[in-house]
Amino acid sequence: SAPTTGTTTGATAAPAVQPLLPVVGGSTTVPLVDGTQRVYANLDYAASAPALQAVADRVAEVLPLYASVHRGAGYLSQVSTALYESARQAVARFVDAREDDVAIITRNTTDSLNLLAGVVPTGERVLVLDLEHHANLLPWLRSSDPHGRRTTILPIAETVAATLESLRAELTARTYALVTVSGASNVTGEALPVERVVEIAHAAGARVAVDGAQLVPHRGFSLARTGADYVAFSGHKTYAPFGAGALVGRRDWLDTGTPYLAGGGAVRDVRADRTVWQPAPARHEAGSPNVIGAIALAEACDALAALPAGALVEHERALRDRLVAGLERVPGVRVASIWPDSAEPVGVVTFTVEDHDPGLVAAYLAAEHGIGVRDGRFCAHPLLSRLGASGGAIRASVGVGTPSEAVDRLVAALHAYVTDGP
Ligand code: PLP
Repeated sequence: SAPTTGTTTGATAAPAVQPLLPVVGGSTTVPLVDGTQRVYANLDYAASAPALQAVADRVAEVLPLYASVHRGAGYLSQVSTALYESARQAVARFVDAREDDVAIITRNTTDSLNLLAGVVPTGERVLVLDLEHHANLLPWLRSSDPHGRRTTILPIAETVAATLESLRAELTARTYALVTVSGASNVTGEALPVERVVEIAHAAGARVAVDGAQLVPHRGFSLARTGADYVAFSGHKTYAPFGAGALVGRRDWLDTGTPYLAGGGAVRDVRADRTVWQPAPARHEAGSPNVIGAIALAEACDALAALPAGALVEHERALRDRLVAGLERVPGVRVASIWPDSAEPVGVVTFTVEDHDPGLVAAYLAAEHGIGVRDGRFCAHPLLSRLGASGGAIRASVGVGTPSEAVDRLVAALHAYVTDGP
């Protein structure tokens, strides 16, 4: 439950914030350079979030039951098939899919977006913004694009309002089949309002895909309410283990587009001279699927959906506000921002420390304080250049398992670093 009143800690007088849901490994201790141990402060949820305890329990429960899905007549095959298909339904429900949407179980967001890039009708144009994670940039830019598709990278503007205007102008000037945008930046947590992007794109006859890797786990998502046509997200950022993700959205392109993965389960009939593909989702799930991964992802989706309305946002807001306020008090620390008028950002904060190498700062935080952050360019090189941080930066990110103690520890450690040195 968060935020709670009670003890205040370290660098801030704000009330302490407790984790919203139990995660596994929350009390893992790690060795420090001085030979002592410290409870790990995991501030790297944006890279991969720890599994919920409920997910771990569910995996332990279903592990003895798995068998080949969609193929076997045996009892366990039937059970596994039923569990896999109900996991698909839970994933679709979590993103509030419409009746004509289809949910494809993929490996992760990267896989989902590559899949979608392969089914956009031949010769159509696609529009992306230059702030995207490489997963939502490179699939659209492949030089060997066999579809003859043309991709435009639109530079973002100084404000959300100006970026939306520039999007509108580009969509009016040329015809696009698809606009694909991140639901929240993996660098600053900031976001365009998806509803507005959809309104502008649909008015121009273009569909909208949302890279929900950072948005979906931290806010949930509704295809029905936003009107977006597709959403992609990753299990390992949604409190489930690696290896399962999803692409959910309009059925037509997915039913007819060429699958990029060919193999068993995706076909209805194969002869020497022709292959008849299944419709979606089977068409895009060739090979034996990740049954346990899908069940784990579904469990995480259900657990997040069961939280009281607003709880996710409030928990993250309390942590993010505390983190940003703390960082702004550390001399030489600069918090990165793309847009002053962003929709409420998720709990991802990127910063630099003046005159200090981000890699060394991150290594110091790990070795001396047991704090895990990420440093580098976060698979978003164009955006880091735009933010004046092409040499890299440091990213701290939070989620449902984060207590405010972790945030306070980071702020206190940075204070120590800039005042006393490493
Ligand atoms: N999109 C965004 C915004 C991300 O933050 C990430 C991962 O960091 C991805 C896509 C790719 O996710 P995955 O590595 O799970 O495919």
